[in-house]
Order: sequence, then structure tokens, then C-alpha cells
Amino acid sequence: MASQAKIAIITHVNPDGDAIGSSMGLYNVLVQDAHQVSVVIPNAFPSFLAWMPACRDILIDETDHAKVAKVIAEAGIIFCLDFNDLKRMDSIGEVYTKSDAVKILIDHHLEPSKFTDYAISIQETSSTSELIYDFVVGLGKKHLINKDVAECLFVGIATDTGSFSYACNYAKTFEITAELIKCGIDGEHIHRLVYDTYSINRMRLLGYCLSEKLKVFPEFKTAYISLTKEDLDKFVYKIGDTEGVVNYALSIDGITLAALFMERDGNIKVSMRSKGDASVNDICRKYFQGGGHHNAAGGNSYVSMPETLEYFEKLLPEIMPAI
Ligand code: 5GP
Ligand code: MN
Repeated sequence: MASQAKIAIITHVNPDGDAIGSSMGLYNVLVQDAHQVSVVIPNAFPSFLAWMPACRDILIDETDHAKVAKVIAEAGIIFCLDFNDLKRMDSIGEVYTKSDAVKILIDHHLEPSKFTDYAISIQETSSTSELIYDFVVGLGKKHLINKDVAECLFVGIATDTGSFSYACNYAKTFEITAELIKCGIDGEHIHRLVYDTYSINRMRLLGYCLSEKLKVFPEFKTAYISLTKEDLDKFVYKIGDTEGVVNYALSIDGITLAALFMERDGNIKVSMRSKGDASVNDICRKYFQGGGHHNAAGGNSYVSMPETLEYFEKLLPEIMPAI
């Protein structure tokens, strides 16, 4: 019998619940069919996802580059999950580009660039995890969606919809969620593991963001929060600690555009959210070399924090014309 191709699953830098949920969901399906599968990610994932089934098997390029490079070089099939551009693979991009594996994208972001041989790119969905459910069913492997798989996919759907509060006006999202619940998962318990496990530092950082770092421009319906390295150090920042912070700025009455600017090594990471018509995908694409979804997107700035904030404030009359 011919030996089976090895499979690698790659997701995006600063992975979130859907990135890890969709990747581990597919992983936990494929291993049941005796495939040799590895999930590789550019950098660490937040600790509130570390309980997810088989997460310990994930290889992180930042700390294990040689192993990740070997996995990619030996893979015959590579799945790219939950991102729309080669740049989002960060440090894995170089070995990925050299690989002649069959490459398959499964993703729900707008305007994907072409970096795979095949693409399932659907925007009218809650999440990549939902697409993975469909993909597995389409393969005729629904019987492999067990409790472990269901937990992973549930995390992806729940986190990418802000606990079923946006990007979820699809009957199918709830039908699939119902199927996942039928697999015996405890949705309430999962919600607590993801959302009620803040460290004290993380909670205090949130308080600091809202009381000291929030800037509001009512005339432009815009609010933003900026965090320098010094701010982050003060609260012993751990990856994932600012997850969800930008949504608080968007929760202010009358605010329809919110941004979070975070200082990293050599760049400022930009996170944007909007309500209604304002397309943060367009804004991040045009001004911050990024993209994402209509109401949730991100990008980067390569000038200092004060210069980035000045640039953003100057853009406001153009991107959020006052009425
Ligand atoms: P977040 O603000 O949570 O980092 O990202 C919001 C959405 O935009 C996510 O779906 C994420 O995958 C996407 N995104 C974030 N940063 C970038 C970026 O730099 N480029 C692109 N293309 N998408 C991004
Ligand atoms: Mn997603």
C-alpha cells in the first residue's frame, strides 16, 4: 500500500479561538483516520485556549523553528486555516513557499490573496470552525466529529461571534452549534474556561485601558485605546491579555468605529471593530497594510506610537465623515 501523505495545518500569527479551534478540530478528526498530522503556528496562543483537546501537540515556530520547518518540508498536504494572506503566516511563510505540497485554504476573511492550490473561502459564515464542520461532513466523515472535535469547533464559533452576538445571523450557525452540543459538550463550562479565567493583571489592564487610555471622538463616532510597551510591562502582559479590549470601546453609545493600537517589537499592531456600514476591512487594507472582515479587521503600523495615533486622528474626517 502506498504510504499516506503527511498533513500540516497552519494558522495565523497571534492565533485566536477560531484559529486554534478550527485547526484542532480538523486535527482531531484527521488523527482518528490514522493520518500523520501536525498543527504549526507562528507564535504562542493564549492560555485561555490551552485546555483544548490535544493543544499540547501544537508546534510553535517562534520556539521550535527546526521542527516546524521539518513538518512543512515533509508535508504532502498543507491546510491553511482562518487567514487570507501569506503574510499572516509570519515566520512560517518562507518554508511554506518552498514546499510543493498540495495547499488548501479554508477561511472566511474577505478578499483572500492566492497562496494555495485550492480554496474554500466563504464569508457568509460565523467562523472557519463552522466551515471545518461542513468540510468534514462533506468528506463523509461526520461520524468522526466526537466530543473533542466538537469542543474545538464550538470554541471557534463562540469566540468569533463574541458569544453569539455578531457574525451569527445565520440559521446554519445555530444548527451546527446544536449538532456540536449533541456530541455531549458542555457549552456553559467551555464559556467559563474561555471568558472567566482572567488573571488579576489582565483584569487590571482592562480597567487601566478604560479609565486611562481610552480616547473618544464623538464627532467622528470613534474611540480608541493605545498601549505602549511600558503600559503592557506594568501589567506583566501575556499573549491574549488584550483579547476583547477593543470591543469595550465599541460598546459606547454612539460609537461606531473602535481601534486598539498596541506596541510590539518593531511595529504597532492595529485592531479595529465597527458597527454597521463603516468597513474596517477597507480601512485596515488602505491605511494599515491589513484586512479582515467588514466589522472586525486588523493591520500594522511601522512608525512610532505617537506618529501612528496622529496619522489615525488625521484620517478620521475622511474615514468617518461627520453628519
Ligand atoms: P484582531 O483585531 O482580533 O487581531 O483581528 C480581527 C480580524 O482581522 C481577525 O479575523 C484577524 O484574522 C484579521 N486580521 C488581524 N490582523 C490582520 C492583518 O494584519 N492582516 C489581515 N489580512 N488580517 C488581519
Ligand atoms: Mn475566524
